[in-house]
Amino acid sequence: MRKFLILLFGLLLITGCTKQEEKVKTMIEKKYNTNITIQYPITNISKLDQIVKKDVKEKYQDFLEQQKEFVEIAKDAEFNIDYTYHQVDDHYEIITLRFFSNSTLLSNPLYEISTYVFDTKDHEMKTLKDLISSTEIDKLQDKILKELQKKYPDCLLLDQAKKELSDISHLHFTFDHENFYFYFDPYEIAAGYFDIMEVSIPIEQIGLTIDLELGESKKTYQPVEKTTRIIDPDQKSIAITFDDGPSNYTNEILNVLKKYDASGTFFVIGNKVEIYSDTMRRMVREGNEIGNHSYSHKWLTKLDQEELKEQIQLTQDIVKKVTGVTPRLLRPTYGAVNDKLRNSTSLEVIMWNVDTRDWESHNVDTIVKKTIKNTKDGSIIIMHDTKKQTVNILEQLLKKLEKEDYQFVTVTELEKIKQMRAYEK
Ligand code: ZN
Repeated sequence: MRKFLILLFGLLLITGCTKQEEKVKTMIEKKYNTNITIQYPITNISKLDQIVKKDVKEKYQDFLEQQKEFVEIAKDAEFNIDYTYHQVDDHYEIITLRFFSNSTLLSNPLYEISTYVFDTKDHEMKTLKDLISSTEIDKLQDKILKELQKKYPDCLLLDQAKKELSDISHLHFTFDHENFYFYFDPYEIAAGYFDIMEVSIPIEQIGLTIDLELGESKKTYQPVEKTTRIIDPDQKSIAITFDDGPSNYTNEILNVLKKYDASGTFFVIGNKVEIYSDTMRRMVREGNEIGNHSYSHKWLTKLDQEELKEQIQLTQDIVKKVTGVTPRLLRPTYGAVNDKLRNSTSLEVIMWNVDTRDWESHNVDTIVKKTIKNTKDGSIIIMHDTKKQTVNILEQLLKKLEKEDYQFVTVTELEKIKQMRAYEK
């Protein structure tokens, strides 16, 4: 029996098997002809989490009601909530939520933003007014206006912008150690422009009432040491793939894979990669493959070229930064693929031929039975590591398929096996 080594060297590190807390709420589903993706961070500060959750729920319900009513004419509908989340000086928890909705009912896609700046010392939400010296407000308003004029000369409605800036307690803003960032819903201050408008001003130009440490604190990661994997090209092989993670269940999935000496391919959503950096690094260390599943799970085939490329590239960048690995595979969101998508990326587009439909029913036994019936040598199976039951399904699946003498490889390994076999012939 010939064996070959797949390019990996290094130590097998034992990783903890404890359950992980949920860091990002993820909900991906189809309802009223709508592709829905909702993601928002869980901070474990109950006051802040409740506020965020309430806003998400309201926006989602508003959208659903409208969509339900006009479901016959509102085709190709999409609802997406994307987020950012960071801390500043162990003092501020800062979240943005970006709401996006579109359908044939709307003449233009709708973009909205909410920002949350939470002070963990006094346990209160902060508005910009709370953080700026009252004598500095006029100056700041001027600066923001100038930046808006510079960045959006063709579409800015000056009077509306002035009006919007007149009450700074309502402005959407965030900050880090370098800049303050200001955001505007486009329909408030622009004509013919639809995406969120954003300008930044360096901290030292703003008269703050609070102390912030200045300077950039970019986190860097040590390279990951990978395990060596031994593959037998003559053995029956399948590639199990996981979409929509990482999540709090991914570690349990990794435990199961490890138990059966299996490797999987994880098509990750970029905006969750850094928040689950430990899980991502473990994935790589234990010989799994990472693929790209967009940055915020937007419906890729509906995007213009620029946004499409951005959705892919941001995920390439963050995976590389956190794990040192550059993905070579792309799994399109909502399983939708067209020529525009294929031509916009050098990544290989990977679909599947066995669908566990692990999101659909809760009957683990039925799912496992059907999946095994459809699986054969060379199959690519799709699962979702955002579902609790997927852990059980995977365990049963690997147990049964191992008895049928399958080996469980990554998509790239499966391709190499196929190439080797073709070469032999
Ligand atoms: Zn997906």
